[in-house]
Amino acid sequence: MKKAVIYVRVSSKEQKEEGYSIPAQKRLLWDFAKAKGFEVVKEFEDDETAKSSGRKSFGEMIKYLEDHSKTVNIILVEKTDRLYRNFKDYVKIDELGVSVFLVKENEVVGKDASSHQKLIHGIKVLMAKNYIDNLSEEVKKGFNQKALLGVYPGSSLPIGYKMAKKDNKCLPEIDDNNKNLAIKMFEYYATGLYSATALIDKVKSEGLFIPENIPHASRMSSFTKASVFRILKNPFYYGEFYWNGKKYTGTHQPLISKDLWDNVQKRLNRYEYKKAIRFNNLPFVFKGLLTCAECGRTITAERKIKPSGKEYVYYRCTKYKRECSQKPVSEETLDKQIVEALKGLKLPDKTILYLKEALKESFDLKKNTVDKTKEDLLKAKQSLEKKLGKIYEDKLDEVITIDFYNKMFGDYTQRIEDIDNTLKKFQTADYNYYQLGANILELSKRAYFLYKNANLEEKQELLSFLLSDSQLKGETLLIKYKKPFDRVFVATKSCDYRSGRDSNPRPLP
Ligand SMILES: [Zn+2]
Repeated sequence: MKKAVIYVRVSSKEQKEEGYSIPAQKRLLWDFAKAKGFEVVKEFEDDETAKSSGRKSFGEMIKYLEDHSKTVNIILVEKTDRLYRNFKDYVKIDELGVSVFLVKENEVVGKDASSHQKLIHGIKVLMAKNYIDNLSEEVKKGFNQKALLGVYPGSSLPIGYKMAKKDNKCLPEIDDNNKNLAIKMFEYYATGLYSATALIDKVKSEGLFIPENIPHASRMSSFTKASVFRILKNPFYYGEFYWNGKKYTGTHQPLISKDLWDNVQKRLNRYEYKKAIRFNNLPFVFKGLLTCAECGRTITAERKIKPSGKEYVYYRCTKYKRECSQKPVSEETLDKQIVEALKGLKLPDKTILYLKEALKESFDLKKNTVDKTKEDLLKAKQSLEKKLGKIYEDKLDEVITIDFYNKMFGDYTQRIEDIDNTLKKFQTADYNYYQLGANILELSKRAYFLYKNANLEEKQELLSFLLSDSQLKGETLLIKYKKPFDRVFVATKSCDYRSGRDSNPRPLP
């Protein structure tokens, strides 16, 4: 007999009075369990109208299901909003891998669901996860703050600098071992007498380039034209740096003057630089997307030039010839297979409708949960602003001391600022949410068309959005789609949408 838990919740007085009382919910769920032949092993209830409210039982249920994951895999609940209060709850339940029966809505999510329900659920989870990720970009925020203070937040510094610990902080400092290499490169190049190749020869002949001295973090294994241009293009040397696409003024000590840097930039604007940068920056379409089917290791990309002078890209297993026999494969070979596969990704109108339905349901869930949080924040902000006005009046009336006023003023404005920051994060997450939803729909409708007309960069972006855990076996690409596209793809193969029926129907309660 399948084992199940029951979860019931009331969140407000109105709900209680509308006949959704806890006993009413329980009755419904027990009857359902009996009809389906489920054994109810535990009940969990949250009454948020009670004084010591909260969602204690929800947490206990998660814990219980984790502890009993081998035996209990079913949650019975009246309807969606009983179970989920926010996106986080939604993702948490999904990660448990249980089946959730939404009894009033006549729906199952999780492993017992029908394929179209799984598709809808998959999209909703994806959207929710993405939203949460966007909201919790604390790390990034910290990095940006560091950049605002003029401290380069990255760990890899250009040649001529090293990280040094000062007052318990890591700060960039001039590296005496290498500073002359960098300075001389700028000076020589500015004369206009040297090409990149000639410049390499020059600094090498002068003994300025000593590989052992170059810090590992700079990741310069060999001195190439591309690395020359990387150095000469870097504003770090005169005191500025880029972080997340924005330019910041650094607090580190410059090695060269802005004038010298500007001079070099003028010289750089030539054919050889353009060619080198283009060559160096062209993305590898399948980079980071494939593993070797034979040994499981990463497939890496390399660019080579044929004797004819034509560039080409191939992919190989990192253990090729040592422990693995997987041979290198050209990008062209892989590209052809992707094109073929995406051609097969044409979706029936019915699936598109499901996708739209899922996006709408996800949006409703977001409106009901996230937007409430935002409302609360706005309310809190308004109340603080009122308080701010009130103490201002008190101060004018000389009812409070100036010290007290200053203290409260500082406190309130700080809290208002915090709220504004949080609201801004919500705004960013909102934009990304809309973008993701639009992308999912767009890709599902015309992935093939989009891929065929994309440039290399767009292709790469599109594939990393679409693929996950794909493998290379001989010359064959073993394509695996990311959620929810795996569902979309399976759906087109296993369902007979002409009749609107699942080919493997699982009747709902
Ligand atoms: Zn391998």
